[in-house]
Parts: sequence; structure tokens; C-alpha cells
Amino acid sequence: MSPTSLKRSHKIHSLASDLGIRTSTDPVRDIVRFCEKRVARFLKDFPDCKTLSQLLDISASKLGTKFEEIHSDDQLNDVRTRYLQCGERSFASLHEELAPDVFGITFKRLSRKPWELPYVSVIDCRLDKKYRSYYTKWHELGHLLILTDQMRLAFRRTHFGLDDKDPEESLVDVIAGAFGFLPDLIQPVAKGRPSFEGIEAIRMQLCPEASQQASIIGISRAWPTPCILLQAQLGLKRGERRDIAQGDLGFHDRPIEVLRATQVSPNNAARASSLVIFPNMRVPDRSIIHKVFTGSAVDGQAIEDLAWWESSDGSRLPAAKVLVETRGGRDDVRAIITPQ
Ligand SMILES: [Zn+2]
Repeated sequence: MSPTSLKRSHKIHSLASDLGIRTSTDPVRDIVRFCEKRVARFLKDFPDCKTLSQLLDISASKLGTKFEEIHSDDQLNDVRTRYLQCGERSFASLHEELAPDVFGITFKRLSRKPWELPYVSVIDCRLDKKYRSYYTKWHELGHLLILTDQMRLAFRRTHFGLDDKDPEESLVDVIAGAFGFLPDLIQPVAKGRPSFEGIEAIRMQLCPEASQQASIIGISRAWPTPCILLQAQLGLKRGERRDIAQGDLGFHDRPIEVLRATQVSPNNAARASSLVIFPNMRVPDRSIIHKVFTGSAVDGQAIEDLAWWESSDGSRLPAAKVLVETRGGRDDVRAIITPQ
């Protein structure tokens, strides 16, 4: 769901009011702030919390859930049997519930002992789902952070890859994104200029369970100094895509894909400064990003000028020296761009 339609969603507005939040024009931001205040209160009892993994564990115990990680089918059977023996009948269909697009489920315990936590969050870590486990855990906690009396018995699931998600699922993803890489914990260790190596070191220190890819996005976003994370892939101009979609072109008129900045993620500090690259701009041939893509250079760093970047209307970005660091993938190149 797009950020704009999420903001306007009736379900999100009524959720905010159920949570006792006075709604503004942006209920999503209001709800995230509400969650931030709750987590800040959890942390008051744990002033020594320094890592994101600790924050996750503290939040889980404060929200009353226990994570059950499932790494194999055998483990799935064990967890299912264990909870069924405790009288949790909803675990009977756990196999079917953990469908390919479901990454986690939080159950309310219906027959728990007085000393047991009121919820259990089953985290599917089988096969490729293991790369999402950190995010899935935050997603499940996101549901518990916004739980109201009206929804207390419902199951919570995580679906990925669905274009039109339920508004609550989309909201919980926003919440998971806010806490999974909380700037308050990242900024004290984010020293100097961000680099792929520096970000990986912070990942290992703060949240080794998080995937490398998610950490590059989340940690660069939280970095206190300006940087742009960019992904370059082959692509067409917007107008060319439209012509193809409308079937206006003959076979020989087909435009050729060139290397473009398909994803551009400036962090807050970059937004506040003049560091800018526009999405879908063509990557200059002389940039290290282009050279790594074509194989004429290996990954590394280069000092470049943003004035090399040209828009489709021929205008250039203002001159600014930047340091560009690359990581080439199978069909893309990622780059961290910082002011020189
Ligand atoms: Zn969910």
C-alpha cells in the first residue's frame, strides 16, 4: 500500500482513535510516535541497552511474547506438539498456517500457566525465510505495539510480496522499519563517513540477525551525516515505458535500456543538505558505478562530480565533489555516495 493511501485509510484512522491517539493529517506518523513513546518507556528500565538485538528482546518481553524460531520441519513438529500438549489448540494447523507467504504468526495463549507470557510468536526461519527473521520479529512486535481491546484474539501474520496488503499489515511494516534500525542506537556508533564495511561492522555489533541487505538500507538511513544509497540497474525513461505500455512503438523503434539509478534513498541528513540524485537518472558512463556494471572496473571507491549526472531534459546536477563506493551484484550495482 502506498504511503499516501495508507495515511488516508479508514482502518488506520479508526485504529489511531482506538489507541486513544488524537489524529492529525498523518495518522501513520502519529501511531509510530505512539509506539516510540511505548518503547522509550520499556528502555527506562534497561538504561544499559546498547544494541538493537537487546532492544528486540526487551520489547518482546515487555509486550508479553516469546519467540519460537522454526528452522526445520522437524522443529515445526516439535513446537506444534509442545504447544498442543499445553492445550493450545490453535497450534493444530500450524503447518498450514505457515504457508509460503507467511513468515510469522503471533498467537494469544489460551491455556497458559500463570508464569508464562500471554503470547507466543512463531518465526518461520526455514530456507530463505531465515534472512527475514529479524524483520519478522519486529513485524510481530509491531502488531503487539498497536494491539487494542477490539482485536485481542485475532491471529497476527506476516505476508510478503502482496501488492495490496491490508492497511494494518502495511502499518506494521512501517513500525518494524522504524524500530529494526532505531537511529538512537545506531548514531552513537556511526562514526565518520558511511561505507559498506563500516555498516557491516555495525550490523555485527548491533543486530547480527538482520540481513546484510536490510542493514545497508536501515543503517545508512540512520547515519547522522549525509549519504545517498543508490541502486543502479538497466531501465528505460518513464516516457519510453509509457510508449511501450501503450503499444505505440514498432519493433525497430524499441528504446534501449541504459543503466539508471532505479532506487535512490537519501538519508535525512542528505535531504537537509544539497546532496541529491533524482530517481531514474542515467548513470554517467565515466562513473565507477557504470564501470563496475560493465566489468571495466572492480568494486572500490572513486571521487566524482555530481555535475556528470544529466537529466533526460539535458539539465545537469549542480557541481559537487562526492565519494562513490560500489558493490556490484548479479544484475545491479549498489553505491554509497557521500559528500567529499
Ligand atoms: Zn502482520
